[in-house]
Amino acid sequence: MDFSPRLADIKQRLFPFPLEIWDGHTHLLGLPGKTPEERLERLLECASRLGIGRVCVFMGTKWQFDPTPEELREANEEVRRAVERFPTRAFGFVYVNPNHQVASLNEIRRHVRDGPMVGVKLWVARRCCDSALDPIVALAHDCDAVVLQHTWIKTTGNLPGESTPHDLACLARRHPDAVFIAAHSGGGNWEIGLRAFCETPNVYAELSGSDPTSGFTEMAMRLLGPRRVIFGSDAPGRSFATQLGKVLGASVDDDTKRLILADNLKKLLAPILKKKGVPV
Ligand SMILES: [Zn+2]
Repeated sequence: MDFSPRLADIKQRLFPFPLEIWDGHTHLLGLPGKTPEERLERLLECASRLGIGRVCVFMGTKWQFDPTPEELREANEEVRRAVERFPTRAFGFVYVNPNHQVASLNEIRRHVRDGPMVGVKLWVARRCCDSALDPIVALAHDCDAVVLQHTWIKTTGNLPGESTPHDLACLARRHPDAVFIAAHSGGGNWEIGLRAFCETPNVYAELSGSDPTSGFTEMAMRLLGPRRVIFGSDAPGRSFATQLGKVLGASVDDDTKRLILADNLKKLLAPILKKKGVPV
């Protein structure tokens, strides 16, 4: 049986215009490959099939909730090796832990200020409203780097150091000139999470991670406007396809899809990418 006409119809419906896609949230853990470079190559291969041209990537091939300085160094070395192999397609964010402030600042200096990375990634070691994050955010801002903070609201209760969107709004109000990306925007409870960012124009809601529920992208757009919403997949933990479906299947116009899928993130990263000689 020949399925090609139907596939062509579907493609036309999902990609009705030439579309550039940047993914703001990917990882190396869970991919096949003996080295970080091989893993990233595999990720980019899969991304290409869905038209995703560029990805932000962070954390190494092993994850810890509360990494030691040595574990941070290893994770960041792995990501650095990988992104240096694909400098125009993959952009590294340095993984830091506010429980090890000096080590974290050194990692930012090594990989962002003096290296190729363009952002800072914070996960679940300490809730981000804590003042321990202030020097980390200040240094990231000095380097023109964005700060991507995991945010979730677990119905069963967050981990002790896990930030909610409200924690991030609190941090963002203390640093009005810094730029923050709210990874997951509160996770499965995005109806609550997105509302936390209504009054913080320096926070961008990133859509990765939760199931592709209808209405997520529309609500983000309605509350924050089309310029404060960013596509992210969390691949390979989530598939590119389901996460893209949140945006491609949303009831928003094509111009808004363009902003969410590439232009908003491109605008945030353009200053630091230009400084590092990466064509945008
Ligand atoms: Zn993730």
